[in-house]
Amino acid sequence: MASWTITALDTGASVIEKSVLTYLHDVGTKIKIVRIMFYLEGPQRIIVDTSVGDAEQGLRLLGEATLRTPEQEPLAALRAAGIDPERVDVVINTHLHWDHCGNNHLFPNARVLAQRDEIRYAIAPGDFFARGYFAPTCGAQPAYWGTRFEPVDGDIEVADGVRIIKVPGHTPGSQAVLVQTSAGVYAIAGDAIFLYENADKLIPPGYHWRIDESMDAMRRILGSSDHLLPSHDYRVFERGSPARYP
Ligand SMILES: [Zn+2]
Repeated sequence: MASWTITALDTGASVIEKSVLTYLHDVGTKIKIVRIMFYLEGPQRIIVDTSVGDAEQGLRLLGEATLRTPEQEPLAALRAAGIDPERVDVVINTHLHWDHCGNNHLFPNARVLAQRDEIRYAIAPGDFFARGYFAPTCGAQPAYWGTRFEPVDGDIEVADGVRIIKVPGHTPGSQAVLVQTSAGVYAIAGDAIFLYENADKLIPPGYHWRIDESMDAMRRILGSSDHLLPSHDYRVFERGSPARYP
């Protein structure tokens, strides 16, 4: 089986209420979260999640300011890591919340994979979720607008050594990415697991579609992998920025 490397790019931050991440824990506490774009290199070049695009709309609809240095602008972060977006073969959106699919347009030659259930839900989500999707139902322009998706139904092998597993719970069509490396299988969890703390203490994401399925999703991801890469945890960058795995 092919062996892959993973590069995590820091593409900015926001400061938000912590219980949005850790359900009913640390209510009233603020936490600074990172917006990560992952790059996988092996027989193909793959991007997992494309971070915040329209930061102004995020501030207006959700009150979440995006804090970004010039080096953290997605294109600058890609170039600094030696990644040519034109040569990316595949983009995987773990789900379609605004902060995970805002720069799909930077990869003009890539297939873009999202779960069919997620694409359908994102157009007319539950009212409580509408702003998180920048949904047309709240008068917004979705962050993924203009993307020609390749819909995925369930689990698939994307390439030799890279697998998508469907893990609904945070959203109806959330998916995680399992990556074979020389040090075992890494799981890129998306918002199924926001922080290492969610996994360590089995705390579901505070912001979720179905809580029981969120718990099943966490267990499935942890049971399918040797190492975890959560979506918004600065500990991913403890080894440096960009952070390279394994
Ligand atoms: Zn999300």
